[in-house]
Amino acid sequence: MATVRDGIYLEDNPPRRSQFRRGRRSPVKPVIVVHTAESGTDRSGPDPKAENVSNFIQNRTTAGSYHLVGDADSIIQLVRFENEAFQDGTGSNRWAIGISLAMNAGDWPGLTSSRRDELTDTCAQMAVIAARWLMARGLQAPVARQLTKAESDRTSASGFISHARRDPARRTDPGVGFPWGAFFRSYQQQLSGTGVEPDRDTLTRQLQTLIGASSDGIIGPNTRAALNRNWLGRDASWDSSVADTFINNPNLIKWVQSRLDAQDGFDVTVDGDFGTETETALRQFLGRSGIVAAESYIDLLDQR
Ligand SMILES: [Zn+2]
Repeated sequence: MATVRDGIYLEDNPPRRSQFRRGRRSPVKPVIVVHTAESGTDRSGPDPKAENVSNFIQNRTTAGSYHLVGDADSIIQLVRFENEAFQDGTGSNRWAIGISLAMNAGDWPGLTSSRRDELTDTCAQMAVIAARWLMARGLQAPVARQLTKAESDRTSASGFISHARRDPARRTDPGVGFPWGAFFRSYQQQLSGTGVEPDRDTLTRQLQTLIGASSDGIIGPNTRAALNRNWLGRDASWDSSVADTFINNPNLIKWVQSRLDAQDGFDVTVDGDFGTETETALRQFLGRSGIVAAESYIDLLDQR
């Protein structure tokens, strides 16, 4: 987890020119625009880039800011969420929240996996900070999905959009290599740590992403077929004719375990390992075998 620095940077360090607007011209919506700051990428060890970007924004003579900027090990709030950050030139500033990773959009492919995970987790941590602020105001946490520009402009919008989708003629951030799937998983995991359960639509989309189906929130024939290609089970409980069909994708096992753990009266370790604890909980919850295939996944979407 990145350290969240105290204070509001652009209030504590007044910028050379105005870098935010006090108050909002439209009610804030649960829509987060995701950026990279194009400030260079720090590839290993302590990461000073969020601090550097904050200092750059304080001193720049053109408009450009975010609500939050983060790097591998720290997060800085530049602008309060109740104010407009100058993060997008296409009209979202008045109602959106802008979060930015202090790195270059084109640098995702060359990162070590640990650096990529740190940056992805920081981005998710920033999203959770924004989600908690929204929820404290009676608004929804942004749904874990990518919006199109038209969707993001709707009054009822909820979700995430890249700056590139807002402004395709001029921007590419946060980059074609931005790991949206891993970002959404981390976001949901961190959000569930706050005691807020994702809704059924979000859970369905999470599941679809994990099984390689298109993430549209609808359980139709394609999703059912993909579910049936993703059996989970404890090998030792079954003979090879059954056990050979188990895929046992650890990320999918984690999803199942966290769904079981979310049920009243269940306490299941989320470790991606399909052991006796998981099997016993499944048998109890489903009232049938300890195998997860199509119908069992669908049952797990609901809270009982
Ligand atoms: Zn941007």
